[in-house]
Amino acid sequence: MPNNVTAIVPGSFDPVTVGHIDIIARGAREFGRLIVGVVDMPVRKQPLFTIDEREAFLREALAKYDNVVVERFNELVVEFARKWGATLILKGLRAISDFEYEFAMANLNRKLAPDIETVFMMASPEHSFLSSSGVKEIATFGGSIDDLVPDRVAQRFAELFPRKA
Ligand code: ADP
Repeated sequence: MPNNVTAIVPGSFDPVTVGHIDIIARGAREFGRLIVGVVDMPVRKQPLFTIDEREAFLREALAKYDNVVVERFNELVVEFARKWGATLILKGLRAISDFEYEFAMANLNRKLAPDIETVFMMASPEHSFLSSSGVKEIATFGGSIDDLVPDRVAQRFAELFPRKA
């Protein structure tokens, strides 16, 4: 049902997981164009992967989706959205724990830009436990994250944190 709606999917994607890909793939079926925005200046903490790597992982994993664009940004999400003519911000919601933060962000963004709507998509049940920080924690201690991230990301983790034999 490709329509002429452009939606922004913002995140730090440090790194992208199969949970993010699932939301983006489902969003790409519902909206005409998705702009995946990779935050270039995370306010919360220093990322493990550089902006170049985070962007490249996403580009490779999403290459098969014709209506998905990956771009970095370091401004307000609503400004980034306006630049692309987007009228929606699409976010994934995993659990109640995501809700409080996302609820506040959605309302702050509404205050800044009442014309831009935030839309939430529920995480698929098999991904509802999955987070970039969880993946990093497992990988740091030599655990297997192969099913949780795209192949290229798993390869990079294997280089950074060789598995114990
Ligand atoms: P994280 O919260 O894992 O560090 P990001 O900051 O990159 O990830 O999050 C970007 C968006 O992706 C957020 O809206 C977040 O709720 C969503 N998201 C993250 N992991 C998943 C998942 N496993 N399933 C669905 N949505 C997710």
